[in-house]
Amino acid sequence: MSRSEKYASREKEEKWICRLRKGNTLTEGDISVRFRRKVKNGTEDWILALAPVVFQGIPKQGRLNHGFTSLRYREYLEPTRCFKCQRFGHMKSQCPDHAGPDYCTKCTGRHLPKDCKSKRPTCRNCTEYNSKTGARTPTSHTVRDQKCGTYLRVRDHLVLMTDYGTGTK
Ligand SMILES: [Zn+2]
Ligand SMILES: [Zn+2]
Ligand SMILES: [Zn+2]
Repeated sequence: MSRSEKYASREKEEKWICRLRKGNTLTEGDISVRFRRKVKNGTEDWILALAPVVFQGIPKQGRLNHGFTSLRYREYLEPTRCFKCQRFGHMKSQCPDHAGPDYCTKCTGRHLPKDCKSKRPTCRNCTEYNSKTGARTPTSHTVRDQKCGTYLRVRDHLVLMTDYGTGTK
């Protein structure tokens, strides 16, 4: 994607979010587009990151007004985890840390999980979160753990919006 294309796409996303805010009474807080993906029927899914306050103010399911139409949405329960660096929010193909070996899923090292010599698991994401924020979230689990604090935090902030079936009802 060229720089101007990227800019145009950013602008499109800002307008789209603005329309969403105008049409609905949303709590003040951050809304951003994580990524978009093409689905069948020529429509697109928009995966958004919402600040917890915004997320909590939206009913679990239904429709949100968007301009002259409305959009169906649901909670997006599968945060993207990068298989290269194990962080959430992007895919391996978009990993900013692409040089060097993959990070381990069981510890904070860079090697294949089968070569891991750690006796107990250490979650890379939670370790990093703790050192950044001074929090003390448990870290003795793998990055794939469904109870991982980072996983749960990321998961709660995502809602899937879809253009599919717009305008009906
Ligand atoms: Zn990555
Ligand atoms: Zn390891
Ligand atoms: Zn964790």
